[in-house]
Amino acid sequence: MTKQEIILASQRYLFPSVFHYFQEPLVIERAKDQFVWDADGNQYLDFFGGIVTISVGHCNETVNQKVTQQMAKLQHVSTVFANEPQVALAERVAGLTPGGKLTKSFFTNSGTEANETAILAARCYTGAHEVVALRHSYHGRSALAMSASGQAAWRLGGAPAAGFTHALSAYCYRCPLGATYPSCNVRCATDLEEMIRTSTSGRLAAFIAEPIQGIGGFITPPKEYFEIVHGIVKKFGGLFISDEVQTGWGRTGGKWFGIEHYGVQPDILTSAKGLGNGTPVGLTVARPEIADALKGATISTFGGNPVTATAAKAVIDFIDDHKLMINAAETGAYLRSHLDELKAKHPIIGDVRGMGLMQALELVEDRDSKTPAPEATAALMEAARENRLLIGKGGTYGNVIRITPPLNISKQDVDDFVLRLGASLEQVSRTRQPAAAVPAPR
Ligand code: PMP
Repeated sequence: MTKQEIILASQRYLFPSVFHYFQEPLVIERAKDQFVWDADGNQYLDFFGGIVTISVGHCNETVNQKVTQQMAKLQHVSTVFANEPQVALAERVAGLTPGGKLTKSFFTNSGTEANETAILAARCYTGAHEVVALRHSYHGRSALAMSASGQAAWRLGGAPAAGFTHALSAYCYRCPLGATYPSCNVRCATDLEEMIRTSTSGRLAAFIAEPIQGIGGFITPPKEYFEIVHGIVKKFGGLFISDEVQTGWGRTGGKWFGIEHYGVQPDILTSAKGLGNGTPVGLTVARPEIADALKGATISTFGGNPVTATAAKAVIDFIDDHKLMINAAETGAYLRSHLDELKAKHPIIGDVRGMGLMQALELVEDRDSKTPAPEATAALMEAARENRLLIGKGGTYGNVIRITPPLNISKQDVDDFVLRLGASLEQVSRTRQPAAAVPAPR
């Protein structure tokens, strides 16, 4: 198929909800490590990794070799038969979870299913129904996961499911309480208690949150936030579910999981995306007594599939063997310092935030009003494309650039990225500047 045929066939045969970045869709033909190539043979530096999913580089040879071997040996049996790759992955995961306390896994195929499973397990364990989630969150595309999500644009299909209430997010750049950290005393966290008392039955099944809100635009709470929230959730009998679909597997630097930066022990942890490096894996891992409460008939035909389980374990081993958590911290700090420099140069950048190799720029019309700049964000995406750089977009207001390269990039890759992003920012800033004032005739 030619590039044009692919674009036309997408329009004709796919739901239009399968939307593409860019005015003219970018057709990707192949990829290797931190690069992808389009249908015209142009090479791009990929600093988005297929939506925070390429954790160890595109078409990673070590991972793919193991996958290929497994494909030739056993591709599928379903979970009604035992197989080694599934339990080998479960054992590996059990050894890495926060505090070593989450030791039983249920595998599915996506982050959405992982969160469905987590909420189901929490309801079975507690006998309670209600779930508290956060504003600006995203937890998936099923009816239940959309109801958990705190962004109107991602809640399709009319009435949300009952039983979800949304608490304040620690969106410091746009503080919902108009306060400033740290003099605010993290009131967005303490407010949760009144919210539960006034807006729920007072009996919680769970609280679910992303340690850093992904689609919300990498909203990164202050260090005390989750500890305060955790204490309140426990008072009302709820389980703490950490949605690590984006923040897991070293992405945030120095730790396996984002929640570990906050010193909080989750009861259930969910993940997907970077765990499979492109193969579809969803993980729900819980304290054993919680896992044991999910009794009765529930099945995921492809969950723990020998091939995807092999891929996921190979990804974890690769991250561990190559100390990529450390690289994410070090190269992430290097990236961050450059982003801060870009902010000093470009008034359009209102905020820089994130952890490790999960960094974001929030773009604004001007720094005083903080008016979101979604058009400029779209223009920056297009300019980056021209400069052969892939970055992500997000944020409740469509004005956040998301930067999540593979975890095994080097500082030279960051230098290359900064050149391309810097040039793209210059282009956008130039077109936005008012025409220079013409000197008055004397
Ligand atoms: N949780 C979070 C934090 C996510 O970012 C996503 C996907 N963007 C999901 C859940 C849903 O994952 P999936 O698209 O694999 O169903």
